[in-house]
Order: sequence, then C-alpha cells, then structure tokens
Amino acid sequence: MGGRGSGAQRGRHTHIVEKVVRLDITDLRRVGLFHSPTVQAVRVTTQTLDGGSHTVQVESSLPVSHTVRLSYQIGTPAQAVLAQVSLLATLQTYGGRRWWFACPRCQRRCGVLYLPVWAEDYGCRACHSLRYAAQYESPSLRAWRQAEKALRQIDDLRAALAAKPNGKHLNTFLRLQQRALAYMQTSLATWPMIRTA
Ligand SMILES: [Zn+2]
Repeated sequence: MGGRGSGAQRGRHTHIVEKVVRLDITDLRRVGLFHSPTVQAVRVTTQTLDGGSHTVQVESSLPVSHTVRLSYQIGTPAQAVLAQVSLLATLQTYGGRRWWFACPRCQRRCGVLYLPVWAEDYGCRACHSLRYAAQYESPSLRAWRQAEKALRQIDDLRAALAAKPNGKHLNTFLRLQQRALAYMQTSLATWPMIRTA
C-alpha cells in the first residue's frame, strides 16, 4: 500500500520543507470547511517521496469548539492516529473571521502543518526543524542562480526592445546586465573549486 515512513528515507532531504507532507489551511478554507454548513469534513491526500500517498481526514468542530480533528495513519504496519488541533481566529478587514491552526506543539498560529516521516504528529515548520531547499544551497550556487535569472530577464527585455525601442527599458537592460555580472562575480569568488590567487 506504500504507507508513509516505510524506512530508508531518513536523510537530509527529509528535512526539506518542500518534500514533507503538509496540511495547508488555505486548501481547507477553499473547500468551505470553516464556513459552509454542508462541509464538515475534508480528506486531503498527498503523494509521498516513497511513491505512496498520505491521506488525512480533517473534521471541523466549529462552531461548537474551535478545533479540528485529524485522522490519519503512520508507519508500517499502518497505525491509526487521531489528533485534535486548536484553531485561532483573526478578524478580516471586511468583516468575518479567518481561521488558522495553532501548532499542536508550540501553540503558535500557523497556516501550514507538516508531518515529516520520522514524526507521528503534525507540527509547524519550526517545531519539526524543517528548512526550505534554498537554505541548503551554497552561497556560490545561489548567486549563480540569481545571475541566471537576471540573464533570462535580459533575454526577455532584449526581445521587447527589438520590437519597440524604449528609453526606460534600456535603463532596465543596463541595470540587469550589471546585476548579472555582480552575481557572477560573487558566485565565482565563493565557488569552492576555484582558487583565485
Ligand atoms: Zn510549532
């Protein structure tokens, strides 16, 4: 059945937030879990790294209590988990309330809860020590990618300028060139393989 957490996955990549099972409150709001009288429960299924999938059922207890109940399975053999997560409300500019999760571990307000393969419970990014993939990049690689981005923008702008010359675009063009060059210099200066005497 390819359940979550079937071993051999505990590596550095499992700490990358983009690769972890997530439950986003925006998705729950979008389907009306907190305001539609006919939607009391939602099932959210996520593909996992091992080719399986993870499904969590989210049941709202509003308006009786400010909580949702999560039911899901972990491990192999699968083990059922039931968890209650408190909700926190913020007032919206044009009236009404917007609901957020209170992280079950630290109680802080958050929009996304995560369930890494090594954990049994959903928690916020900080509580599960998750980082964004970009935070693992070396400074040289990051600068190189920024240079590439500037070069792509230059390409787009060159096409626009060829079609219709424009003084403002020309200034942007020059600024992008300087930016691309600066990022390339930063990248090369910090690149571990290159020794500049
Ligand atoms: Zn937390």
